[in-house]
Amino acid sequence: MTQEDPKPEATEENPPESQDGAEPKKERVLHTRIPAVLEGELKAAARALRVPVSNLVRTILEDAVKIADRASERVEDKLSRAAKTVHDERDRLRSKVEKKPNLDDVVAYQPVVMARASECAKCGAALAEGAQAGLAVGEIPSAPRFVCATCMP
Ligand SMILES: [Zn+2]
Repeated sequence: MTQEDPKPEATEENPPESQDGAEPKKERVLHTRIPAVLEGELKAAARALRVPVSNLVRTILEDAVKIADRASERVEDKLSRAAKTVHDERDRLRSKVEKKPNLDDVVAYQPVVMARASECAKCGAALAEGAQAGLAVGEIPSAPRFVCATCMP
């Protein structure tokens, strides 16, 4: 073990950690290659604003990250809304499938020929297009319910 201080020297880009204990900023030095033209523009902008180039770059990066965060939040919102819609729709369809129509209020069955494929409200048998079936007539008007020929009394 050497006695050398492992901490790097404080520079403009790598300021010393705050010693007062108030929220020490975790700052890191990020090296990156940039085109000479961009460097010139950054230096000119920093001169015009009378701020160090590193401060300007940091501000630009922070703004860019904030914008990216906002954009991704919107995307997440949309995704969670879409997921909720899919979830609700799936529940709705499931309850529709699982809940067989109640036939307690049926007072009569009228023989009909199916114009569109459906299924028997009593036994669940498939009712093909053109099949003979019974239209349930209930005391309370409701969506049409059909029973197959076998389930017809
Ligand atoms: Zn049936």
